[in-house]
Amino acid sequence: MATQTKDYYGTLGVKKDASADDIRKAFRKLARKYHPDVNPGDKKAEEKFKEISEANDVLSDDKKRKIFDQFGFYSDNIDAAAAEAAARGGYGPGPFGGGGRGPASGAAHEVPFDFGGFDFSDFAAGSRGSAPREDAGGFGGSFRDIFSGMFNGAKGGQRGPQPGTDLEYTVSIDFWTAVRGGVARLEVQRQETCPVCKGKSVTGGAMSCPECAGTGQVTQMGGRMKFNIQCPKCGGSGQVQNSCANCAGAGVVTRRETLDLRIKPGTRDGQRIRLAGKGNAGTDGGSNGDLYLIIKSGTHPFFRRTADDIAITVPVTVMEAALGAKIEVPTIDTHDGGGRTQLKIPPGTQTGQKLRLREKGVPSATQEGLRGDQIVEVKIVVPRVQDERSKEILRELARLNPEDPRAEILEGV
Ligand SMILES: [Zn+2]
Ligand SMILES: [Zn+2]
Repeated sequence: MATQTKDYYGTLGVKKDASADDIRKAFRKLARKYHPDVNPGDKKAEEKFKEISEANDVLSDDKKRKIFDQFGFYSDNIDAAAAEAAARGGYGPGPFGGGGRGPASGAAHEVPFDFGGFDFSDFAAGSRGSAPREDAGGFGGSFRDIFSGMFNGAKGGQRGPQPGTDLEYTVSIDFWTAVRGGVARLEVQRQETCPVCKGKSVTGGAMSCPECAGTGQVTQMGGRMKFNIQCPKCGGSGQVQNSCANCAGAGVVTRRETLDLRIKPGTRDGQRIRLAGKGNAGTDGGSNGDLYLIIKSGTHPFFRRTADDIAITVPVTVMEAALGAKIEVPTIDTHDGGGRTQLKIPPGTQTGQKLRLREKGVPSATQEGLRGDQIVEVKIVVPRVQDERSKEILRELARLNPEDPRAEILEGV
């Protein structure tokens, strides 16, 4: 069984100390949004619905939540007593911590749960805020050692399932593809399951392990104590196999793959797209990592985009600005209506003034039917008058309008 840390709190968008009520509300809200009935045929919504259901299943159950808080994942194979014992830093069974066995524990070699593929280095580093006490049972080793001691003879085979790592790529798309949507082709290099060993890293028949002479156990000193632990070479099975020649025992091979990524209309610069399971392949049955694509959107010579709003600077003559006018401005809707719209310039418009064209911006990639606005920034252009008649009219205009535009700043200084 592959175990993998999950972020159930993040999935539901609640804090770690969220109340049962907070969790219930957050789940209901998301469930309404992603329910398959509401999103027929939408694989992503279905996936998301599964994720939030799983998160809710664990976080809404006190016992399960406790286990999840302790280990960063949940499995039915873990009992709550084991979780609490682990939190205290000394699990009962085995050569250490004697006498601390909870009622759920059975024989000395019983393995309370399967840690295959789970990395305990987080625990040892204390990054989860649950670092074990080093003095537990007089044992000075790391947390990983403590647990590996519990695996005596329990599991055969190699290191067990390892989840694949996530990948991250930047995808550059042009301005119009981001606005209107389209397809971006990209080449990714990812680790795929080795076709020869099927991800198991080994081929051929088993032979006796040279490390432990086939016993599956090696002796290790821990503090004052001496005890047998699972042989690290053969994983306790007592047998080893030849490494796969095709993948050099990695279980994965590196492949280049060309992907066609569908870009939704309204995709934003910096947006992160997750393709579940498209990261590096896991080994020996471990789950695949995810592929994250960071969108890098190009710019346009005239249109400037901020989220779903489009800004453009439009030159307006002195006469249009003073008297008011109806002008034509370009919009991003070039595919219908010629990409232009009428804009009313009110009389007395000043340079730098911003006029809003509602819902002429970019369609929202996340909320169906919503669109941003287009913001037109007015830039007044002054006529370069050549002829005497125009100059005379401007002088006449100056005489009729004697107010000093600098009066305020002159007085204010
Ligand atoms: Zn292989
Ligand atoms: Zn061995």
